[in-house]
Amino acid sequence: MAHSYRNLIDGEMIATPATLDVVNPANEEVVGTVPSCGEAELDRAVAAARRAFKSWRATPIEERRRVINAMADAIATNQDELYRLLTAEQGKPHHQAKGEIFGASAMMKAQAALELPDVINQDDGTRLSRTRRVPVGVVGGIVPWNFPVMMAAQKVAPALLSGCTIVLKPSPFTPLTTLRIAELWKDIAPAGAVNIITGEDSLGPLITAHPDIDKITFTGSTATGKKIMEGASKDLKRITLELGGNDASIVLPDADVAKVAEQLFWSSFTNAGQICVAAKRIYIHEDIYDELSQAIAAYASTVKVGDGSQQGTGVGPIQNRKQYERVCELIQDAKDNGYKFLLGGNVDPSGTGYYVPITILDNPPEDARIVAEEQFGPVMPLMKFSTTQEAIARANASDYGLAGAVWTSDPEAGVAVAEQLETGTVWVNEFLHFNPLAPFGGHKQSGFGAEYGIEGLKEFTYSQVITVKHEAPVGA
Ligand code: NAD
Repeated sequence: MAHSYRNLIDGEMIATPATLDVVNPANEEVVGTVPSCGEAELDRAVAAARRAFKSWRATPIEERRRVINAMADAIATNQDELYRLLTAEQGKPHHQAKGEIFGASAMMKAQAALELPDVINQDDGTRLSRTRRVPVGVVGGIVPWNFPVMMAAQKVAPALLSGCTIVLKPSPFTPLTTLRIAELWKDIAPAGAVNIITGEDSLGPLITAHPDIDKITFTGSTATGKKIMEGASKDLKRITLELGGNDASIVLPDADVAKVAEQLFWSSFTNAGQICVAAKRIYIHEDIYDELSQAIAAYASTVKVGDGSQQGTGVGPIQNRKQYERVCELIQDAKDNGYKFLLGGNVDPSGTGYYVPITILDNPPEDARIVAEEQFGPVMPLMKFSTTQEAIARANASDYGLAGAVWTSDPEAGVAVAEQLETGTVWVNEFLHFNPLAPFGGHKQSGFGAEYGIEGLKEFTYSQVITVKHEAPVGA
């Protein structure tokens, strides 16, 4: 019998009269049906979170840590079931889904271990001034479809550790694994501390506008981020925005071609390119351009595109039809403009499943749509540059500022380039490595605020300074 997915509100799993179907992008079959919440269910969830906030904020931090660790353990214990479900709804290959599930559990544990001690500003006998961090209250968490479990985990754990309670909304395209996790969490977290509700995109603005939500933590597109900022301005809600990126990789002339070709490929094509920090533009020095582009294309042609549940699949389908059509449109635009393809480019829209062949473009111009826009799919433009300063200028000529990478045999030279990139993260000789203790966040239109580490935790709090004036001793 098909699993009955429900929402977690006030410690109970509930159904709604309206429902949403979730489609497996590998075969376009319905894999599950979830509740579709409206204002009434949202009000119920927010009221439960508000009630729970009173006692949760007063719960000793060691107990809050214990709860988060138990929630993380529940994910790890059930990882075999969860990664299969994640592949079925999201499309990513099994090994990448396993990585996301395991990573989400580990991320929660790392967040649970954080400390946010009081800071003494002055203690000189005349006055004691202390800064403490106070939880903001009820958080609305809104999550995209590319890493649904990781994004949920990285919002829920720091919110709970800080003493906040949360109402989380997964993407309508990928709510199943999160709702299965909600069942596992139901008896671990106190009623109302974590609420998980599903619905159409239209549920998002209701969350942003809700008068009893104090903060929005959002991961998704820049276009939606702007709407959230506008909606949140009405009552000046606190917001953290983790938005899109058009991340550049710069390959310096001393890079070891044989070593970096495969890594560059995966920096672009992991999760079928649907990663905010995927390498979306690769600038290669002209001295090694031909050799490296051939090496990348040769490796790429060995990677299998297919159903993520099948062994040997390296690149799965695009997650949903809308995104599939957008990626196809970018490929068509490249064809219409006569850009050269090193690999791929032939999409078969009549087939079943949202498959796009691995596509690599050979030195398209800087103003090509595939270079200027965030493609979010398995299509990578390789571009030639002559001087390092030119590559840096081209990398920075973007409205986005999320991440980037530099590839070189000289780490010091790599760092010198990294320091000139206008992004929140830069990797030298690696990619997609996240340290749960290091702040992750964007610059420019990639958003603001941070997740992970102390900076991420602080986003769920405000600072309160308490100053006590000591009376001068009598006779002094
Ligand atoms: P999206 O903006 O379409 O949707 C994200 C979430 O917002 C979904 O839950 C959706 O239902 C909800 N939503 C839609 N309209 C809303 C509105 N008006 N108000 C409030 N919520 C609304 O993004 P997506 O297509 O799901 O995800 C892909 C995008 O996310 C890409 O641009 C990618 O770069 C970005 N992303 C960024 C990061 C990061 O950390 N910076 C991480 C992952 C993905």
